[in-house]
Amino acid sequence: MEVNPYEVAKKQIDIVAKEMELDPNITRYLKRVERALIVSIPIMMDDGTLQIFEGYRVHHSTVRGPGKGGIRYSPNVNLDEVKALATWMTWKCSLLNLPLGGAKGGVCVNPRILSKRELEKLTRRYTSEIINFIGPDIDIPAPDVNTNAQVMAWIMDTYSMNKGRPVPGVVTGKPIEIGGSIGRTPATGKGLYFVLEAMCKKLELELKTQSIIVQGFGNVGGTIADFLYKEGCKVIAVSDISGGLYCHQGLNISKLLDWTRSENYLKDYKDDNYQLISNDELLATKCDILIPAALENQITGDNVDKIKCKIILEGANGPTTPEADKTLFNKGIHVIPDILANSGGVCVSYFEYVQDIRAYFWDIDRINKELNRIILEAFEEVYMVHKKRNISLRTAAYIIAVSRIARAIELRGIFP
Ligand code: NAD
Repeated sequence: MEVNPYEVAKKQIDIVAKEMELDPNITRYLKRVERALIVSIPIMMDDGTLQIFEGYRVHHSTVRGPGKGGIRYSPNVNLDEVKALATWMTWKCSLLNLPLGGAKGGVCVNPRILSKRELEKLTRRYTSEIINFIGPDIDIPAPDVNTNAQVMAWIMDTYSMNKGRPVPGVVTGKPIEIGGSIGRTPATGKGLYFVLEAMCKKLELELKTQSIIVQGFGNVGGTIADFLYKEGCKVIAVSDISGGLYCHQGLNISKLLDWTRSENYLKDYKDDNYQLISNDELLATKCDILIPAALENQITGDNVDKIKCKIILEGANGPTTPEADKTLFNKGIHVIPDILANSGGVCVSYFEYVQDIRAYFWDIDRINKELNRIILEAFEEVYMVHKKRNISLRTAAYIIAVSRIARAIELRGIFP
């Protein structure tokens, strides 16, 4: 059955509202997005036909600061998905105590079938359509599924051309040469690694001896798999949209990354020791640590009984439905929630934004040190609430994040 991510996001608010006895007025307030923009993006294709794509940008909450959230290009993008992703960004920024709100954007398109020229036109027109909705003190986009530093460079250029001045602070995840931050591209993977290391310490597990499975082999999945592999951990299965590869002795992640970076799919990689598996089989394979790092709604009521691991580290946004979450908690599987686990990306995006505004750039040691400090402070806070109240790590993370938003609403008051 299709799970609507926005319904999931609202259900999560209900769960935490009940746990923390949140004012019902605030609960209703948080279940609505502040504003949502739907735009049409007409593109003259290389073959002379006109195609019109639909794009979105949503602000869930700007009560603690300007909106922050990625832009996704995917054929499955729709308004409810973007609303859910914007809502999760609010909690993520709040959990890390960043002075930012939650936003997200997307275009319903399969970018793989576009030429580079078409992709650039799509990006520039989308930016023009949402131009009054974004800006350094309004809402700052960043990369997400199928968007990257080049796409951010086109957004920055289009925005700057329209404003008549360079505005690097309008997006993060830009190339370093035009105001991007060192360390932004691997930041989400790095944050995942810091959080996983900390969790293993709490559970007295030696990370290097754990068997690991990663679903999704893009920016997030590929980077965390790479970090783990380079640290000597055994990554026994990985997958992308084409399917997965399994090897009990462990995969050579460096070779697989070389392969996929050349626009190849994992399913076409040839190694006699590797077994081809489907994404469903991958999720059902026994391991110690499972890292869903592709899309939302991967672990649901339908497959949760097949999950056999000790820790789930959520690299993707919303990979576990509330129904599955409950079962995992009852089974004693530790789920490190997305809003904590994958927050390294928005954390270094925040550093990029600060560096752009100040026009003063940090070195990689400072980036990694500050990232480590902020993410581990959030981890310790979440872990403490989880232990104290005997609730899941997700509910604990939500209590902290939602409390800060509720307090900000209370202090600001309801306008007018
Ligand atoms: P990406 O486009 O770089 O990679 C996505 C990967 O998932 C690709 O390997 C793709 O083949 C695979 N994939 C797509 N559909 C799949 C499916 N149905 N089954 C299995 N694999 C599939 O995207 P990304 O930036 O790595 O983002 C992945 C997830 O992480 C998303 O949920 C995103 O919102 C989240 N996220 C990304 C960042 C970031 O900094 N990029 C930060 C936080 C969270």
